[in-house]
Amino acid sequence: MEHPFAAGFGASGARDADFDAERAATRAAGKLFGIHAGERDPHDLDAAMDLDPDHLVHVVHPEERHLDRLAAEGWPVVVCPRSNLVTGVGVPPLRDLLDRTTVALGTDNVMLDSPSMFREMEFAAKLTDATAVEVLRMATAAGAAVAGLNCGAIEPGRDARLLVLDGDSDNLAGVRDPVRAVVRRAGQGDVKAVVP
Ligand SMILES: [Zn+2]
Repeated sequence: MEHPFAAGFGASGARDADFDAERAATRAAGKLFGIHAGERDPHDLDAAMDLDPDHLVHVVHPEERHLDRLAAEGWPVVVCPRSNLVTGVGVPPLRDLLDRTTVALGTDNVMLDSPSMFREMEFAAKLTDATAVEVLRMATAAGAAVAGLNCGAIEPGRDARLLVLDGDSDNLAGVRDPVRAVVRRAGQGDVKAVVP
């Protein structure tokens, strides 16, 4: 079924239903198909990958062959570490994923967590060995790439969709490493402007 406003279809998981029809429909409509997989264990990853999704969500428990498939096919992965904490499934193996493909940061189901990328960045930075630069990239350029948007980095030819932070806020004044500070401690209160 085609929907004029939807960006695509997010499938809950290959265990929940057979998503062949949705996969075919999104492909025909030129829209994105993402699927949540590998959240509790590795057992739904093959079926999810067999759908040739535009991206996978979670991938907390990949086995070596799943990592090989990710590297070979280049499917981006959206990790949601805060959601994974709430559901108690573990922490996604960020280094293994970053070594193989594009990794973006997501907030998963709004029923589980507030949709705050600041808090998601903080958890990703503090729970994993990803560097601050990697985490910032996951929340910006990689996220835009997964969503098919021409933003996420300040470069000629890109759409200017910017978040301006106040470097003089009580929280950010005097920081030595701005990327690290933005990733680990910035929040909504530090936002000065949103462009456009
Ligand atoms: Zn999920």
